Amino acid sequence: MTSSINKTNYLKKYFGYDQFRPNQEAIIDDLLAGKDVVAIMPTGGGKSLCFQLPALILQGTAIVVSPLIALMKDQVDALHANGIAADYYNSSQSSAIQNQVLQNLHQQKTKLLYVAPESLGHLLPNLQEENISLFAIDEAHCISAWGHDFRPAYTQLGKLKVQFPSIPVAAFTATADVATQDDIVQQLQIPSGKKHLASFDRKNLFLEVRPGTQRLPQILKFLKNKKEESGIIYCLSRKNTKNIAQKLNEKGLEAQAYHAGLSPEKRSQIQDDFVNDRTPIIVATIAFGMGIDKSNVRWVIHYNMPKNIEGYYQEVGRSGRDGLPAETLLFYSYADVIQLRQFMEDAPNAEFQLAKLERMQQFAEALSCRRIALLNYFGEHVSKNCGNCDNCQTPPEFFDGTILAQKICSAVHRLKQQEPIGMLVDVLRGSKNAQIYDKGYQHIKTYGVAKNVAWLDLQQYVIQLVNQGILEIRFHQNGRLLLTPLAKKVLFEGEKVQLASLQIKKKSVAKEALDVPDSSRLFEALRTLRKEIAIDEKVPAYVVF
Ligand code: ADP
Ligand code: MG
Repeated sequence: MTSSINKTNYLKKYFGYDQFRPNQEAIIDDLLAGKDVVAIMPTGGGKSLCFQLPALILQGTAIVVSPLIALMKDQVDALHANGIAADYYNSSQSSAIQNQVLQNLHQQKTKLLYVAPESLGHLLPNLQEENISLFAIDEAHCISAWGHDFRPAYTQLGKLKVQFPSIPVAAFTATADVATQDDIVQQLQIPSGKKHLASFDRKNLFLEVRPGTQRLPQILKFLKNKKEESGIIYCLSRKNTKNIAQKLNEKGLEAQAYHAGLSPEKRSQIQDDFVNDRTPIIVATIAFGMGIDKSNVRWVIHYNMPKNIEGYYQEVGRSGRDGLPAETLLFYSYADVIQLRQFMEDAPNAEFQLAKLERMQQFAEALSCRRIALLNYFGEHVSKNCGNCDNCQTPPEFFDGTILAQKICSAVHRLKQQEPIGMLVDVLRGSKNAQIYDKGYQHIKTYGVAKNVAWLDLQQYVIQLVNQGILEIRFHQNGRLLLTPLAKKVLFEGEKVQLASLQIKKKSVAKEALDVPDSSRLFEALRTLRKEIAIDEKVPAYVVF
């Protein structure tokens, strides 16, 4: 009770707020109780307060690891303005200043000390366990090669828990898929860290994916009644940003191209024109958007497919910040996938990137509610159709796939949630390959229970279950499949499952995306392959648990 009075008093006294935002109070309580924490909250959700407030209540100094020197200074200035004793320690400071900071620390004057991960090594010998209140790791996704912004210096943060086992460690990030979340926990060595996952749902964004054919005419049509509205078109290449902006201009639409190759002056001028509603349309590479504060962006188009779902969601998330309806449109083509793959193949973390690309592709090919697919990717187990995406509004033909879904889920369970799609499909179809015999899978009860379903179809159905949030792909653990809480309802509580029929896949993005005019040989091959696979008879109507 006292602590709750304390908390609200501190909130009012030091930050001037009357109420906590979602998740803040629970995170603060955990930290005050000495627990480790992993918090995933959207940008602007109020993560800083979650460690700043306990830092004030607890004895000692909170050490805050923050990746950007500029941001560090801003935060410390803001704390000073609120009358809080805070410092930062990084390589931009003279050694005289650094010594002053260390002196403040030793004299226990500092409530919060911000440090760059690269400077942590210098700071550690000056820390004494009894004088530290907590460690806060901001932008914690930087610790993971699965994250979208890996920073090698972050990897040494794993030492903190070893060296200071009694001090709570709190990791904060705005973008972490399940793989990255797991990796954060592992690397920081906080296996019992309490996870706080704020909802990532942005209900006001309409989500749509279309095949990437005839993109420009489609865009012109899309923009027809949107003359006055602000929007962003994301492209893969700088050249494309220029071309498309030019073509839009020729059609009487005011648009400017933006990419990192432009001079800083030019870039800030374009941003300024956009933010102040002088230029309604920006055609940009992913360089555009970070730190741009514009609440009334009404639409976002992805001319090319983003590399991963985090990127996609971050970019569409730049629209509709005012909470009013906004439209998002993604063009999907195999040509893009192939190009992205080529980009990635030489990257040091190619394996991670390719796996993420595949998940992006699965999202683009989803036949069921896109929001469910998206949120489940971030570990948010929702199962109610959103009604605000293309698939909800124009659903494909569904059939009652409950029995097939039960068989698939049951096999996942029998395989102890250890196997990826390929093996699962082989087991369900009763394949006689060596791996199955090596592992003895021919003896499990679900072996061969879906042998009448063609291999690729079965694979598609499994992916549908992933997109529906019934299964989860641990693509960071060899792609093994797990049952979600919803799968348990399907298996044991009679929850019905609708599957999109593959016979009439004409409407689906997946099929049409193959029909791009500039088809390379690879997807010609894919197309033939898909055609060759005969559509299957009915699924046997019995279930083996
Ligand atoms: P994040 O790091 O999650 O992106 P910040 O910590 O920078 O977000 O907070 C975003 C803004 O929200 C800041 O201006 C902060 O002062 C404000 N804020 C944080 N908590 C609250 C609250 N409980 N009530 C009102 N505003 C808050
Ligand atoms: Mg922040």
